[in-house]
Amino acid sequence: MSRVYNFSAGPAVLPEEVLQQAADEMMDYQGSGMSVMEMSHRSKVYDKIIKDAEQDLRDLMNIPDNYKVLFLQGGASQQFAMIPMNLMKNKKAGYIVTGQWAKKAYQEAGIYGEAIKLASSEDKTFSYIPDCSDLDIPEDVDYVYICENNTIYGTKYKELPNTKGHTLVADVSSCFLSEPVDVTKYGVIYGGVQKNIGPAGVVIVIIREDLITEDTLPGTPTMLKYKIHADADSLYNTPPAYGIYICGKVFKWLKAQGGLAEMKKRNEEKAKVLYDFLDQSKLFKGTVVAKDRSLMNVPFVTGDADLDAKFVKEATEAGFVNLKGHRSVGGMRASIYNAMPKEGVEKLVEFMKKFEAENA
Ligand SMILES: *Cc1c(COP(=O)(O)O)cnc(C)c1O
Repeated sequence: MSRVYNFSAGPAVLPEEVLQQAADEMMDYQGSGMSVMEMSHRSKVYDKIIKDAEQDLRDLMNIPDNYKVLFLQGGASQQFAMIPMNLMKNKKAGYIVTGQWAKKAYQEAGIYGEAIKLASSEDKTFSYIPDCSDLDIPEDVDYVYICENNTIYGTKYKELPNTKGHTLVADVSSCFLSEPVDVTKYGVIYGGVQKNIGPAGVVIVIIREDLITEDTLPGTPTMLKYKIHADADSLYNTPPAYGIYICGKVFKWLKAQGGLAEMKKRNEEKAKVLYDFLDQSKLFKGTVVAKDRSLMNVPFVTGDADLDAKFVKEATEAGFVNLKGHRSVGGMRASIYNAMPKEGVEKLVEFMKKFEAENA
């Protein structure tokens, strides 16, 4: 077996221990005589899997009792519609546009009501987080929406926006479980799991109970009502059962590593190795304003598209894969999620140093 250092933005690297356990349990999950893929989601065995997953997530994030945890399908993108359909009582919401995912959510909300762009960093290719300490927010918006970590551009809110009392809704797909969070500051926290938690196909929604109501926009499909899923403990219909099982294993892995405070420490150490190198390199340059840098996604360029392509090619041959930047930014991007060991980043930096020396 040979594993590469996988810097993919998503689907992304998972802990090897988790993959190994899943392999061990593939044919016979704990004496059930079948794979988790093959069992009824209404069975006792599966009930324990999903309940344990929820409890472990609650423990990791310190989720208060007045928040529901939902395991849903449709990816993060389906939430772009589900959020306005369920939350836009006044048909008005504020969006802070800090990248493509925030922009897509903003555009989708415009289908259902008035989506107001409260701030944007599009003027400088989304390379920074706008000042959100004193935004002009209309009184009657139903919520303020952010994408907390911008996967494509590599920026992260270091401070949450001042929503002036309005409900905060956050897409945390690419920073989920990367550091401790104060759940009480949000009305909704959600994310697709394929960036930092598990296999694509699961989206986790953590939502304050008072936001879950029957009062959805007319025409909202049953499957897109939070209440339907909340009342059924995520078992209204067949959930993405195998994916949830893997997420549960990752939660246990995170607990065993020491929880989110420990992950934050490691993620900071890891990111520092790369950013410190970029800051002194004569060839490579980070693309993001230093104070807004993400710990998870690190875009960088040489300034020469041909040299970028050469770097990506040679890195791939050396076992550092998926470093090509998003097509809208170009250059490179190293995604260094929880499951990327520090060693992987150190070796990447060694490789970059060698490339720099050879191409000076
Ligand atoms: C990847 C990503 C999405 C889209 O996720 P899908 O599950 O493919 O819909 C949305 N938001 C952020 C921040 C992402 O990183």
